Amino acid sequence: MIAKEITKVHNFGPGPGILPAEVLQQAAEACINFDNLNLSVLEISHRSKNFEKVMEESKALVKELLGLKEGYQVLFLGGGASMQFAMVPCNLLRTDGKAGYVNTGVWAGKALKESKIVGNTVVVASSEDKKFSYIPKGYAIPTDLDYLHITSNNTIYGTQIKQFPKTSVPLVCDMSSDIFSRKVNGNDFALIYAGAQKNMGPAGATMVAVREDLLGKTGRKNLSMLDYQVHIKGESMYNTPPVFPIYVSMLTLRWLKKNGGIEWIEKINEQKAAAMYHEIDRNSMFTGTTVVEDRSNMNVTFIMHKPELEPEFDKLWKEAGISGLRGHRDVGGYRASLYNALPLESVNALTEVMQAFEKKFA
Ligand SMILES: *Cc1c(COP(=O)(O)O)cnc(C)c1O
Repeated sequence: MIAKEITKVHNFGPGPGILPAEVLQQAAEACINFDNLNLSVLEISHRSKNFEKVMEESKALVKELLGLKEGYQVLFLGGGASMQFAMVPCNLLRTDGKAGYVNTGVWAGKALKESKIVGNTVVVASSEDKKFSYIPKGYAIPTDLDYLHITSNNTIYGTQIKQFPKTSVPLVCDMSSDIFSRKVNGNDFALIYAGAQKNMGPAGATMVAVREDLLGKTGRKNLSMLDYQVHIKGESMYNTPPVFPIYVSMLTLRWLKKNGGIEWIEKINEQKAAAMYHEIDRNSMFTGTTVVEDRSNMNVTFIMHKPELEPEFDKLWKEAGISGLRGHRDVGGYRASLYNALPLESVNALTEVMQAFEKKFA
């Protein structure tokens, strides 16, 4: 029996993150009987017609939601966003070339680390001097870079790039934690990648959208599994793709499109973030951890003025059916992740708890 009504807690978890209840319902049903085949989606061939259709639709939805023009290839790969930290330099960094990185946190730092192993890599800008609490701006971008790597949203530190750098250098962007949350022009990027588990689906699939004309120019041989051209030729089925995470990602993208697409979700995401930051700024018990202009609409980080009261606050929000609010160990305090599937009502539930906490302890 599959529950028709899924009773959910307010899930503010940073990732794997919340998915729409109707998507979970559909995914659960497909685990028993997919496409009326009397087979589970977990036990079908990735080369079956039915799954080919899933792959096609997933790619088409990505292209549509990112507004991608001709010339882009969309892939669904395994290995997480972390695998892309390695694949990007392996495919785009020339043997006699140079890669540039903007270091805005843990994930950007891990991407940078891999590129240094592959070849000549420079840090173009960094916010490490102030514990990654802001987004560097106005930095000079060397024109001889093979690419510039940026992280659109810093999941751990709670900062987000509001204005992407304007440059003739190919832009590579890790959008793992804010993909499909706001309007971006996909065509401004040479390559976009995102692990599914923050804003798109379950863990296990990573979406890559890449301009095909930039590939095959490194002057170096590449291992097959790390080679975008191999995966393009194999239509994301060079090896067995993560069938179930791709299927659930497709369901989530369908859900997004059906409800009004990026324009619809961006408005809701802005409302959720505004409500959170308004409460943080108003409430005498809390303070935000980032500069105001770079505050993330996806991961809202905040700390308590009196950390000794944290157990009291924790009790209150847990009693209110809230989950996943603890901050990352590098930042401490709290992090409310407001991914697409989190409704405004959940944010209201949290701000009410923050108000009740202030009344009791201020
Ligand atoms: C979570 C996250 C990653 C790591 O993703 P994995 O799928 O675990 O490899 C990379 N970049 C960003 C911005 C993230 O939020």
